[in-house]
Order: sequence, then structure tokens, then C-alpha cells
Amino acid sequence: MSRWRVEQLHADFQLGLKADKVLYDSETDHQRLVVFENRTFGRVLTLDSVVQTTEKDEFIYHEMLAHLPILAHGAAKKVLIVGGGDGGMLEEVLKHAGVEKVTQVEIDAGVIDFSKQYLPSICKQAYDDPRLDLVIADGADFVANCTERYDVAIVDSTDPLGPGEVLFTDTFYGKAKTCLAPGGILVTQNGVPFLQGGELTNTMRAFKALFADAACYLATVPTYAGGPMAFGWGCDDPARRQVDQETLERRYEAAGIETRYYNPAVHRGAFALPNYIKELIP
Ligand code: SAM
Repeated sequence: MSRWRVEQLHADFQLGLKADKVLYDSETDHQRLVVFENRTFGRVLTLDSVVQTTEKDEFIYHEMLAHLPILAHGAAKKVLIVGGGDGGMLEEVLKHAGVEKVTQVEIDAGVIDFSKQYLPSICKQAYDDPRLDLVIADGADFVANCTERYDVAIVDSTDPLGPGEVLFTDTFYGKAKTCLAPGGILVTQNGVPFLQGGELTNTMRAFKALFADAACYLATVPTYAGGPMAFGWGCDDPARRQVDQETLERRYEAAGIETRYYNPAVHRGAFALPNYIKELIP
């Protein structure tokens, strides 16, 4: 029998998804992990009752956090992913043949093991790729002690609740910056500004203090309800955000990747912000 699952994230607004069949419901060492089937969205992963990803709309989020910074960089060889246990981000990053090494730092091995079994359409064979260096650790501890330097760092975290909270602090952002190679790009998931405006304001304040170029860009992901989602962008080379359309087209074609949301025009347009979001940026 179907029953509605209601996301517990916002005080005055709720997202409900019908669970046609619950496939898994259990506590890991860090959080409560549930996967259920929904007719429209396919398999839905929730952690502590917050939607993390769904089979049908994951491509939007993962493509925009992976391909946009990698193609803006133009020669990314080393990529860091913090979080991302479902493997969708890793799968997109590994599509770039030029990427030689990906370090993924995930706090909860349970999410990875689980995703390999229950969400193979999202992670595919990504966890078997020899370019992957998988570290099971808190991302905050990892960046505080990291000696490697990355061309692109992607923070694919849960919302700032529970284990993910630390990934939204000024200290974390400062340490994450030290993991970047010169001209490296840091991108972060920053929630839905209409409902989580404070998150974006705090991240942008921290990025402006840390980077020569701090900005955010947007994409609308149906199950991150309440308007477009914001992604933070921090880089010491302002030219990386100004790459022209022709160059992006050339890089996209050379990468030979197939995308369903990302394209170079969307890439450039994603940085155009409506006024209510501009107002959230200090
Ligand atoms: N796309 C998702 C969203 O916006 O809701 C995020 C998905 S991904 C499943 C988030 C991952 O971040 C989870 O696997 C979680 O275990 C991991 N995570 C949370 N806190 C972390 C931390 N402090 N260090 C490393 N990984 C963390």
C-alpha cells in the first residue's frame, strides 16, 4: 500500500512524495537511510527524512555541480568530492577523460554500500574506477589535513543538519580553499534560496572574504522544492567564470559527454540571478 513520505526540512513548507514501495529503511552509524519507489521520480533516497536524490531528477544537480566547474577550468586533472555518497557526482566527474584522479571523502560508508546495491542507475560502475581514491572520513577533518592540491573541489553535502552542518562553516571553507591548486575552483550546494536564504548569505560572505571571485549559480531540481537551488562558486582566477560561449562549446565537444541539463548556454546563463537572490548576497 502506498503512503506519503513528508520531508522534514523546512519549518513552514513540506514536500510530500508517495512511497509506492519502501525498499530499505535503516539507521547507519550516522543517519537514517530510506529508499522508496515513486512512480514519477523512480527510486528516492532520503537521509534523516530529507530527500537526497531521485533516479529521475538527479542528472540536473549532478551535471551542474560536476561539468560546470570542470569545463570552466578547462584542464582539470585532480578533483575532490566531499560527500556525494550516492555516487552520482563521482559518475559525472569520471566522464571526463582528462580527470586523472578523484578523491571522494564521504563520512558514511553505509551510504556508498547501499547506493551500489539500490541505486545502480545513479552510481553505475563509478566506484570501480581506478582513478578513484575513496576516503571514509569527515570532510572537515580531511580538508584540515590535506596536502594534495585539486583543480576542482565539489561539496556535495546534505543540508546543514547533522553530519553535514560542519560543511557550511567558515572554517571548512577556509580549509577547503587550501586544498585547491592555483586557479582551482570550489563549488558547493547551497540549498534553495527562497527557503534557505541564510545558507547562501553565510556561504557568500565567507567566499567573498576568501576568494578573488565569489559568486553563485542556479539550477531548478524538482525534488529540491521551493524554487531554484543555488550553488556557490569560489575561485581566485576571475577569468574562469567568464569563459566565452565558443570556448565552452569547444571544451564540451572535446569532452564527448552526453548531458540532459548542462550545455554551454545553460552554463553561462546559470550565473544570471533574479533580484531576490542577488539581495541575499552580501
Ligand atoms: N544531492 C544531495 C542534496 O543536496 O541533498 C546531497 C547528496 S549526498 C547523498 C550527501 C552526502 O554527504 C551523504 O552521503 C552524507 O553521508 C555526506 N556527508 C554529510 N556530512 C558529511 C561530512 N561531514 N563529511 C563527508 N560527507 C558528509
